Amino acid sequence: MKAQPQASHFIDGEYVEDTAGTVIESIYPATGEVIARLHAATPAIVEKAIHSAKRAQKEWASWSPAARGRVLKKAAEIMRERNRELSELETLDTGKPIQETIVADPTSGADSFEFFGGIIATAMNGSQIPLGGDWAYTKRVPLGVVVGIGAWNYPQQIACWKGAPALAAGNAIVFKPSEVTPLGALKIAEILIEAGAPKGVYNVVQGDRETGPLLVSHPDVAKVSLTGSVPTGRKVAGAAASQLKHVTMELGGKSPIVVFDDADIDSAISGAMLGNFYSTGQVCSNGTRVFVHKAIKETFLSRLKTRTEAIVIGDPQDEATQMGPMVSLAQREKVMSYIDKGKAEGATLVTGGGIPNSVTGEGFYIQPTVFADVTDDMTIAREEIFGPVMCVLDFEDEAEVIARANATEFGLSAGVFTADFSRAHRVVDQLEAGTLWINTYNLCPVEIPFGGSKQSGFGRENSAAALEHYSELKTVYVGMGKCEAPY
Ligand code: NAD
Repeated sequence: MKAQPQASHFIDGEYVEDTAGTVIESIYPATGEVIARLHAATPAIVEKAIHSAKRAQKEWASWSPAARGRVLKKAAEIMRERNRELSELETLDTGKPIQETIVADPTSGADSFEFFGGIIATAMNGSQIPLGGDWAYTKRVPLGVVVGIGAWNYPQQIACWKGAPALAAGNAIVFKPSEVTPLGALKIAEILIEAGAPKGVYNVVQGDRETGPLLVSHPDVAKVSLTGSVPTGRKVAGAAASQLKHVTMELGGKSPIVVFDDADIDSAISGAMLGNFYSTGQVCSNGTRVFVHKAIKETFLSRLKTRTEAIVIGDPQDEATQMGPMVSLAQREKVMSYIDKGKAEGATLVTGGGIPNSVTGEGFYIQPTVFADVTDDMTIAREEIFGPVMCVLDFEDEAEVIARANATEFGLSAGVFTADFSRAHRVVDQLEAGTLWINTYNLCPVEIPFGGSKQSGFGRENSAAALEHYSELKTVYVGMGKCEAPY
């Protein structure tokens, strides 16, 4: 098989198999072909991985932060050297075009290792607190064993965005990729060993919604970091809370992009297209509710239609392809059912809405789709579709659009396009979201915090802020005199 790994799991520095686990088939979304067969972790594999992480963490945490940083920076270097191979694997795993994976997936994982490897030498510093004679100091210490659980849309990036800050802070991690995309994380584990990480600090176990709870509820796990949907987030956060574990929840969204009538229209269309069609629309922070001022609606829609119909859909391994298939047949069916609801509830189909004629075979392709005249109450304006379906809504008034943009349970991201800078800042200040953009969309460099508010989750990935979620403060009071008591 095209992408069969040595074994399903990577534990304590080596590949491990246990064929007693349920079979997981890795399917190449462009053809429907099975490219690898793996096994979900059995309870024995879960135990082995957590035991290995627990043992390795003690040694890893005793290294100086700078020494840990060197390993992470080396891992980044290896990832960059192997960018093509890793990108090709990511394309097989997800169906995303090589044109994207070569610039966005392993590269962003490498950025993460490089960034945390660089800042960690000083980022774990504590403080000294004078108390007049006595004094105190604080230390930032790792949490212990972290469980990372990934979604299928950015498998390698998620494996690194969780692994890099966790490891930098001195934790060990057991990472479970999505059962839909099991391949990339194994390579990250291999690369960390090659970069000099002690065996056991980064383990990968395969599995699905049956396996996840075994990891989350394990008593030796101190923290769970999930990237997934809101319903999964509720379950995982609930299970973690029952044992008072730390959590980071990177969940879904239904984010707004607001385009005012003074905006650079082509730039706003670029933002809306990036925020709806990149990765075949399978991006959590996508701006799927595009509020366009009535005065520019017709121009916006006609240029958007022309540009959307020019998107090159096809073989993800062809460098010229701009949009690949959806990750799975199930996901395409889900998205098609939303398109049907959009039509049935009266939205105007501007373009797309079906399966492209240009591609043949069994791939899970879908046309990039734009609906106009969408109203706030329509299902397609309320629920996360997680596919290339853009909803364009009209507005006229600033206060009205802010209220409508905020009228959702989600709060992951938001964007504003306008030439008026006071308005831009005034509006983003009132939009309820964790990550916002002005006159651009969906850019997430490692230097800036990323994460959601409301039902889109809590905790932050990337930037120095992420380290706070993978460590805790220890306070030490130092008595300089005799200890006195009233007894
Ligand atoms: P999902 O919620 O179905 O699955 C996510 C992961 O959780 C998978 O690995 C799955 O096996 C595991 N899981 C499922 N049930 C579990 C349980 N009870 N206990 C423990 N683990 C369990 O999500 P998905 O379909 O893989 O991904 C799409 C979703 O992820 C979308 O909602 C998207 O918005 C979200 N997402 C969010 C971000 C972010 O950073 N905010 C990034 C990417 C994707």
